[in-house]
Amino acid sequence: MSSGSLKFTAAIDQGTTSTRFFIFDERGEPVAKHQEEFNQIYLHAGWIEHDPYVLVQSVRNCIEGATAQFLARGYKLEDISAIGMTNQRETSIVWDTRTGKALYNAIVWADSRTTHIVRQLKSKDGAERLLQMTGLPLSTYPSAVKVRWILEHCSAAQAVYDEGYLAFGTVDSWLLYNLATGDSSERLHVTDVTNASRTMLLNIHTLEYDPFLVKFFGLEKLVLPKVASSSNRTAYGIIREDPLKGLKVTGCLGDQSAALVGQKAFAEGMAKNTYGTGCFMLYNTGIKPVISRNGLLTTVGFQLENQPAVYALEGSIAVAGAAVKFLRDNFGMIKEAREIGELAARVPDSGGVVFVTAFGGLFAPYWIDDAQGTIFGITNYTTKEHICRATIEATCFQTKAIIDAMEKDSGIKIKTLAVDGGMSNSDECMQLQSNIIGINVDRPAMKETTALGAAIAAGLSVNVWPSLDDLQHVNSRDHQKFTAKTTLEEQIKQFRRWERAVAMSKGWLTTE
Ligand code: ADP
Repeated sequence: MSSGSLKFTAAIDQGTTSTRFFIFDERGEPVAKHQEEFNQIYLHAGWIEHDPYVLVQSVRNCIEGATAQFLARGYKLEDISAIGMTNQRETSIVWDTRTGKALYNAIVWADSRTTHIVRQLKSKDGAERLLQMTGLPLSTYPSAVKVRWILEHCSAAQAVYDEGYLAFGTVDSWLLYNLATGDSSERLHVTDVTNASRTMLLNIHTLEYDPFLVKFFGLEKLVLPKVASSSNRTAYGIIREDPLKGLKVTGCLGDQSAALVGQKAFAEGMAKNTYGTGCFMLYNTGIKPVISRNGLLTTVGFQLENQPAVYALEGSIAVAGAAVKFLRDNFGMIKEAREIGELAARVPDSGGVVFVTAFGGLFAPYWIDDAQGTIFGITNYTTKEHICRATIEATCFQTKAIIDAMEKDSGIKIKTLAVDGGMSNSDECMQLQSNIIGINVDRPAMKETTALGAAIAAGLSVNVWPSLDDLQHVNSRDHQKFTAKTTLEEQIKQFRRWERAVAMSKGWLTTE
């Protein structure tokens, strides 16, 4: 079969638990896909690392797997117009610019080892300026605090830093450094503006690294990646290895930004929620950043080529699909993730059980770092069905708290919530979500919106889709809508009980 005039766009999707590579057609349908899980390294409680070389190899494997499929279907590699990159955000890697060698494992976004560094930094002069400049509250998330930890604990990295050769990159930078090259074969050290906005070194108003921020974190000698727009014809170079050697990378975004683009939430007031390991809601606020007064982050949503950046309010939930996995792996209540919805639907409600899934504290909009995972309301009557339901509801209630905060900050009501990510596969989870927020939930049939967003960013640069209007038919088939089956009164009552449970989950360890 020949592809004729069809144009394809590919995407590397380097996530927290797996890497994927997709080749999409012009309607946003994946015609080839390969996915590979990789090892999570847990050395101590609260620590999560990835081997940077395993990440690169996983991308290579996925590219090989998907391109073999693509060729077997009769398509030709020259029909792929460009590649987009999307990646787990904040996860931080440092390497020596002279050797290209990584000097420590990647410290993953969810890793909470930096709690003590964050406490120290919070009392430092100038800490009060950070939120306004970066849109981020000081927490264990941003890359800057992870790099601080590496410098304080890895003498090899500190020595290279002292000599001025320590390069830093989020996963996009690291992958491009290893897999791509500039026009004159030089190695690339580049990132996109959405990834850079999660380092806490970027001033989100100027979209440049800010000397005040770099100094605040004591990282003046760190070699930082050049910041480029998320769609970009030149900044991300070309792939330097077979089978895709010579193909241009023209799009790059952090995973949640990519999902916003993949859900085509280009207009102000549109929101998407991605239920993966964690859960991330982004709400497009247009070309001016809105600094939250209600516990949300402000982030760069995306920046198309030669266009102003579009900002988003973001609410993140640390534990979503991870709690489903927890029931499977730690409690053995389910054998596969999809069973959680089936079990939850066997009972009419959670039987009074509330599960605050605060395994590493609670994130938006609460920001309680000493909240503990707690199950309230267990009686003789409680069954695993109730626990399953309460586990799903924990993510749904936190989503409700985030929506309330977004509506307060922006003054605009969210009409529809576009959803994607592993947990959104479950009809039962999405029905419970709509019941708890009282807002319609909209789920596309093709839920790989993160990868699609990277492909869209890349394809817009090279005219696969010449303008946003040309995206109308992309991923538009078979959307499923979930409408609330609860009354407002029930929603309020349920949510009050959740908030009471959150208040009671605080300080279990610190008050000992
Ligand atoms: P990530 O990109 O963060 O690795 P994914 O979007 O692949 O995450 O989602 C994986 C998560 O979704 C897992 O934690 C899993 O427990 C959960 N999950 C997957 N399928 C289902 C399902 N049908 N019902 C509930 N949870 C699910």
